[in-house]
Amino acid sequence: MTALLMATPVGASSADATPRAGIGVRIDAALNVSPSTYTPGRPLDVAISGTLTTTALRDVVCHSLTLTASRGALPLITRYASTDRTPQLTGESHTQEVSALLDMEPDDLPASGPITVTVDLECSPMDAKGNWDVLDAVSQRIASGRIQPASGTVALSTRWLFPDDDEREVRPVTVSVTASAPITISVSRGSKTVWKATSSKATYQAAIPLARTQQSGTYRVRVTMGGSTTTTDFRVSRGWAPIYDSVAAWPRCSTLTWSYDPAGAPRGGDIGVADDVATVLKRYAELTGLRFEQVAKGRADIEIGWAPAAWEDGAEAAGGASEKDGVLASGVLTMFTNSEWATTAGFGVRGRGALLYHEIGHILGLGHVSDDRLLMYPVHTFGQSPLVPQQGDIAGLRELYRPQSCR
Ligand SMILES: [Zn+2]
Repeated sequence: MTALLMATPVGASSADATPRAGIGVRIDAALNVSPSTYTPGRPLDVAISGTLTTTALRDVVCHSLTLTASRGALPLITRYASTDRTPQLTGESHTQEVSALLDMEPDDLPASGPITVTVDLECSPMDAKGNWDVLDAVSQRIASGRIQPASGTVALSTRWLFPDDDEREVRPVTVSVTASAPITISVSRGSKTVWKATSSKATYQAAIPLARTQQSGTYRVRVTMGGSTTTTDFRVSRGWAPIYDSVAAWPRCSTLTWSYDPAGAPRGGDIGVADDVATVLKRYAELTGLRFEQVAKGRADIEIGWAPAAWEDGAEAAGGASEKDGVLASGVLTMFTNSEWATTAGFGVRGRGALLYHEIGHILGLGHVSDDRLLMYPVHTFGQSPLVPQQGDIAGLRELYRPQSCR
């Protein structure tokens, strides 16, 4: 869907009688904006494209476009784009294809109502030597358009579900509905309805009370409007967080290979590494239903090795895996050579066991949590932090891998 942005003819208006005050060009623009609707709560890329012809009324360079999205009088976001910056002498006409993007994050978008997009062209006078200065720019509206909220859409904010290090709070799920008829919203977990609301407004936004979504599991939001029902699911996970924004895991019940490469290990620092890894993986096999098989160094699902510290922040090791469509692959665990922790064998208070548990937890799909009683808390305090997976960590692994059904 596209909506035509109407060009505002500037013409050789009387304002151009004073050269410095006018933009210095006659404008003929035919620009389109796409799409013509947006969904509250979802990212929006507004593409502006078309043809722009400028006819110089004096020596001039048209160099920039200012793209602005606003809701009523409230500016939401501004972006700048370059034109092709062709110098034009008085009387010269120049046509160019314009292609610009106004990218908006969910936070930039209003919950309701039309968005106005405007496009301004900025031109600066050019002196006899061909010099021009952006500070001399005069701008002229060359197009404007409206983007309407899609009718009958449901948007759900679930970002709160997985609190990260910076944000140690749990926020309620927000449901935003743009409706063309009265709506009924119900939230259920299994067969139990935990929350209900009705609205006859064109737009509706509400936070689902936290107290109603305390239990782990999948919740279903049903929005009924004029006889049709839209459903959206969200998950609540207590005590653990996935490593990516959405849940990702290795294939359930599968066998993963792992290898250990001692290259670069600090002198005497890698005694017992392979044994310690094997101990950790034995426990993770119990908790996940995965099987782990050591292979010679080289290609393996999980590759373990050493490297000089990558950051200055005192990290002891790094662990993670790549993700595609919710499936993890290519796990890597790197111990940093200057880490005393990584170079201390075994599962004592200062042994590398807890470090391996934590990093392999990442590889298996666990992210950081804000509860310092759990293994996946990002900071380890010797003598205080847990040395092995705790209840919340284990709950996460169970949810990711459902080990009870692996045989
Ligand atoms: Zn970590």
